[in-house]
Amino acid sequence: MENNKKVAFVTGGTRGIGKSIVEKLGLDGYIVGFNYVNSDIQANELEKDLLSKGIESFSVKFDVSNYEETEKAFSEIYEKYGHIDVLVNNAGITRDKLFIRMKENDFDDVIDINLKGVFNCTKQVVRKMTKQKYGRIINMSSLAGLVGNIGQVNYSASKAGVVGMTKTLAAELGAYGITVNAIAPGFIKTDMTDALSDKIQEKIIESVPMKSVGLPEDISNMVSYLAGDYGRYITGQVISIDGGLSSI
Ligand code: NAP
Repeated sequence: MENNKKVAFVTGGTRGIGKSIVEKLGLDGYIVGFNYVNSDIQANELEKDLLSKGIESFSVKFDVSNYEETEKAFSEIYEKYGHIDVLVNNAGITRDKLFIRMKENDFDDVIDINLKGVFNCTKQVVRKMTKQKYGRIINMSSLAGLVGNIGQVNYSASKAGVVGMTKTLAAELGAYGITVNAIAPGFIKTDMTDALSDKIQEKIIESVPMKSVGLPEDISNMVSYLAGDYGRYITGQVISIDGGLSSI
């Protein structure tokens, strides 16, 4: 079935930054889809909440690190909605440990979800975006991918990989009207950062020039900008949103 409304799809939309992106793109007027891997209840509640605001949404449960599951999910979305105009590769995990204690599966899990997951999802949309001569792809990197971070060899490698993919894809796809950008958040208040001890959180906040944490909306507002008309001529960029952390 074809429809005229733009369709946006956000990976990892049940919580934190992804949830805020889903809400923002919904308010911007997109039909907004999102995926998740565990949080059935949150997914259901989010869909209901969006519906109560007059936003059309849908959710799909699949693991972005699994190519077959991802391919199947996207082909069902295309069957139902006909097109995807905006893809936000947001799903991500951490498995923080000093390198000396890091196990092979700590490394593999993070690379498989944070980096290969971006490949798996992007692969499903790019051919169709080139045919429709329009697309916006926004990838979630991280400050850790730009400057490294103690305890995050796996995570920083995955997020640096996302930067490389973003820049290369932007060069390959620009001629087809597709923009590809990355956002590099600093310390944003979500479940991911709530997992850090109060002591570590205080230490990070102290090191941020703006002396405060970022909020999911700080990221979703930028996604909205890049996905919309204002983002028309921006591609291949990595936009830091970190209260100044990357400037020191
Ligand atoms: P979060 O609160 O932990 O939420 C992660 C989301 O990703 C959830 O919706 C989760 O689904 C989903 N997810 C995890 N593994 C998945 C998989 N294998 N397949 C599909 N979905 C999966 O994380 P967040 O803090 O909002 O972070 C969002 C993104 O921003 C991540 O890429 C993260 O690396 C990046 N980032 C965050 C910060 C920060 O300070 N928070 C800083 C820099 C970069 P379930 O709910 O089903 O588990």
